[in-house]
Amino acid sequence: MLTIQALGVSEGLVKAKAFVLAEPDLTVTKQSVTDIAAEQARVDDAISTAKAQIEAIMEEAGDALGDDAEIFEAHLMMIEDEDFIEGMKNIIEDEKVCAEYACKVNCENFQAMFKAMDSEYMQARAADVGDISMRVLKVLKGISDNMIDTITEPCIIVANDLTPSDTAKVGTKPVMGFITEIGGRTSHSAIMARSMGLPAAAGAGEQARIIKNGDYVLLDGCSGEIVLNPEKEVEDEFDRKKAKFDEQRRMLETYRTQEGATSDGHRVIIEGNIGTPADAERVDAVGGEGVGLFRSEFLFMDRSDLPGEDEQFEAYKKAAEIMTDRPVIIRTLDIGGDKEVPALELEKEQNPFLGYRAIRICLDREELFTTQLRALLRASAFGDVRIMFPMISSLEEVLSAKKMVQNAKEQLKAEGIAYNDNIKIGIMIEIPVAAVCADILAKEVDFFSIGTNDLIQYSCAVDRINDKISSLYRPLHPGVLRLIKMAADAAKAEGIECGVCGEMAGSRGMASVLCGLGVTNLSMSASSILAAKSDLAHHTYEECVKLAESLLGGSSATQNETTFG
Ligand code: PEP
Ligand code: MG
Repeated sequence: MLTIQALGVSEGLVKAKAFVLAEPDLTVTKQSVTDIAAEQARVDDAISTAKAQIEAIMEEAGDALGDDAEIFEAHLMMIEDEDFIEGMKNIIEDEKVCAEYACKVNCENFQAMFKAMDSEYMQARAADVGDISMRVLKVLKGISDNMIDTITEPCIIVANDLTPSDTAKVGTKPVMGFITEIGGRTSHSAIMARSMGLPAAAGAGEQARIIKNGDYVLLDGCSGEIVLNPEKEVEDEFDRKKAKFDEQRRMLETYRTQEGATSDGHRVIIEGNIGTPADAERVDAVGGEGVGLFRSEFLFMDRSDLPGEDEQFEAYKKAAEIMTDRPVIIRTLDIGGDKEVPALELEKEQNPFLGYRAIRICLDREELFTTQLRALLRASAFGDVRIMFPMISSLEEVLSAKKMVQNAKEQLKAEGIAYNDNIKIGIMIEIPVAAVCADILAKEVDFFSIGTNDLIQYSCAVDRINDKISSLYRPLHPGVLRLIKMAADAAKAEGIECGVCGEMAGSRGMASVLCGLGVTNLSMSASSILAAKSDLAHHTYEECVKLAESLLGGSSATQNETTFG
């Protein structure tokens, strides 16, 4: 038996066998070969296997691929391209090297060729070359196309981290929970685990590597404790804890149909955070009062092209339709930090969380932004869709972004396409200067939503995904609470809503604290909605205010954590 202490990032207790998602080793060494023909035959074999994989994906996913079908069609064409195949074979012949090395060099040659072309379309094909070369390389190295596809039995996934497409696949497999080496409560795989209601522990560090495929694992997503191959008494104790937890969950069910409010009727609207329209169904299922944050960037990640206007429109419209007349706040592309969009081919930066990201990219790349704004506006004809800009640090950014919305409206109007002319526009308060200047910004927008994940990261100067310093990431730091209060007060003075959509909103017991600070809406993973409603229902508004005041008056995060209990 062995115990690993990680961070509990998605509540719930599960036990199952471990399924270790090993990082594929894609390093290539230049090895000499003597049998040229045999090495070239390996290329032919790898090409036909890779081709069969692509065809299988297309057949299995069928219509569900939507616009992605075109990508796979392009991949099929390229993989059959004589020049591409001959390129590899010639390298083997000329340099007498192994197929893996030839694959790598051939990929670099083709990518350089595409990137040097004038047409933007052809330049973008470099990403396709990368994708198919990677697929061929994996076949050559005997690495499974996608390990998650091979899961057939209930298991707990153990991985360095999970990409959004891994996580989406997990939903179709008998996966009971996740354990990741890196990350914390606000890393995106943790956020997705909560959306899917799967227990998860993150930041297990190198210890996670001790876990072997098939080890029997007890995972406590509340405490972050992981036990491998437990002794009987330990498992019995775990079972008792699990039964208690599951019973508490059942009791929360009564809040499903209730509105978010304190026991004396002070309303706080409880909404859900989503990354896909499917998540909206989960929010709806637990009685969410709207979508307070649709992270639109999830539509852009894990693919080699960009979603077009129609594809985006369909996704936004679907979320709006699921939520019927309830608000759906769609945040414009918030890329950067730990979220990558390969098709944008952004340069690597030294400080990605402080770099070229989110609204900064959108204001710089008008075409990209306009496509999204048009899709959002079109979707606003189908429900209470609202637009939210992330990473706002100045009034100028707000004014420029609003101008872009106006331009997109005018385009649609000229084309006779329907949209809601009174669509509400809001901003995220997640950079400390935005909180401090909230009184200025409040005059320009219809609502605020405080992104505590980033607000804490930036105000405490703590990288939110670095598990080495996670102890310095303190939501109850009096400085953080003061920033939240400043934003809430400024919103109130201007008569606009002030929500919180960072993970703090859904953290245990925080609903009453945030209500006491003057926050009007809380948006969180679907799995936290019932507990937040219950927390509010167990306090009067005055109790919430008193609690908030005592924490605001605390002299340190440590003191506040003790007060909070
Ligand atoms: C936040 O920063 O709190 C937030 C909600 O946005 P994200 O986690 O996507 O950065
Ligand atoms: Mg953020």
